[in-house]
Amino acid sequence: MNKEVIAICPGSFDPVTNAHLDIIERGKSIFDRVVVSVLVNLEKEPLFSLEERVGMLNDVTEQWDNVEVDQFDGLLINFAASKNAKVILRGIRAVTDFDYEFQMALMNRRLADDIETVFLVPAEAYTYLSSSLVKEVVSLGGSVTGLVPPMVEVLLREKLSA
Ligand code: ADP
Repeated sequence: MNKEVIAICPGSFDPVTNAHLDIIERGKSIFDRVVVSVLVNLEKEPLFSLEERVGMLNDVTEQWDNVEVDQFDGLLINFAASKNAKVILRGIRAVTDFDYEFQMALMNRRLADDIETVFLVPAEAYTYLSSSLVKEVVSLGGSVTGLVPPMVEVLLREKLSA
């Protein structure tokens, strides 16, 4: 019997920020394995293609042996089951995230009550950090150094500099 506790960490990661990495790093010390799972079809057109989002995540998590990057489409709980994951790992930002996250967690439990959602809180410095804010700042010419990995900042500038 497989006793490994595997957590799925789902998201858009458009692009990965230091807040995401903070949550993944905390998760990898609690669970045996973390599968960072990139959502294929986003409601909004992403800035980075699926391949680019997965590629950036692979680069910035490659030093962590028990972290892998994958992609998924459709119901998260089906993907989690295919990975033998018993945990959905999500980060909580400000209280504004809470309502939506609560709904998702309860719906996922209704669909699969053997999978638990676990919420982690990031380092204080990243509390208000989001991929969309980072994109906005770079598109207006501001610096996001310290908020995203250096290679992500370079790629953001390439995409967003007019
Ligand atoms: P989604 O579109 O599903 O919210 P994101 O890529 O924005 O995907 O986020 C993926 C995960 O990382 C989510 O659990 C989200 O709550 C978490 N996350 C993102 N930014 C932060 C942050 N600043 N603090 C805590 N958690 C965060």
